[in-house]
Amino acid sequence: MNLWYTFFGDYMLIDTHCHLLSEDYDNIDEIITEALVDGIQLLVINGYNRETNEEAIRLAKKYEKVYAAIGYGPAEVGNISDNDLVVLEKQLQELKVIAVGEIGLDYYWYKDNKLEQIKIFRKQIKLAKKYNKPIIVHCREAIKDTYNALKEENIKKIRGIMHCYSSSLEMAYQFIKLGMLIGVGGVITFKNTKLGNVIKEIPLEYIVLETDAPYLTPEPYRGQKNKPAYLKIIANKIAELKQLEIDTIINQTGLNALELFDLKDKI
Ligand SMILES: [Zn+2]
Repeated sequence: MNLWYTFFGDYMLIDTHCHLLSEDYDNIDEIITEALVDGIQLLVINGYNRETNEEAIRLAKKYEKVYAAIGYGPAEVGNISDNDLVVLEKQLQELKVIAVGEIGLDYYWYKDNKLEQIKIFRKQIKLAKKYNKPIIVHCREAIKDTYNALKEENIKKIRGIMHCYSSSLEMAYQFIKLGMLIGVGGVITFKNTKLGNVIKEIPLEYIVLETDAPYLTPEPYRGQKNKPAYLKIIANKIAELKQLEIDTIINQTGLNALELFDLKDKI
């Protein structure tokens, strides 16, 4: 247990994107407890379909420091009905649901239903605007359409996170201009990544931390199942790249997340 972080409550280590769900872990309670005693002050569990949205809400109700983001990801696009969107709208009014996500476009895995993906993505952005919640956006090989959807929906008021950002510095600034923050996860620690050169240049005011657990485990644990307790490794890597203290990284990214989720005065 790292007493230092626990003692100074203003150092907010926040995992803005993880999937602690029973289809991937058989010891979720242990993983959450470990993360919380190990310095993580807040976890945002992201659902992406009916079952995981429900589970994220259930865990958020169970743990004070766990919050839920809910939505239908690109993998769900062929499966969801109008009624599922009605269910989502109802769930968005739950107290501990703080964002709409993970939603977005994925043309790497799903090439044949691009228009349908955009349609479902934009419907969920509209819901986010209606309930004034930020969005958490998945984007794979769909950068231009993602950008256009966000721009046309004008998300400046709700803002959001480009989860696991992996594109150019130029595009990062374009998304920032729309109101988005840049989510940085385990990929930044991979040996063959060029992402470091991009993240190094992005002002800290626009960066938030995430693990995407159980995926994208940072080095030196790559190949094992990821968990929020590894978040500090990511903070440390950003500190190294920017030649700043790790506390500076934790403080500023934590503050960015609290402001985005409108939790600054609530915890
Ligand atoms: Zn994810």
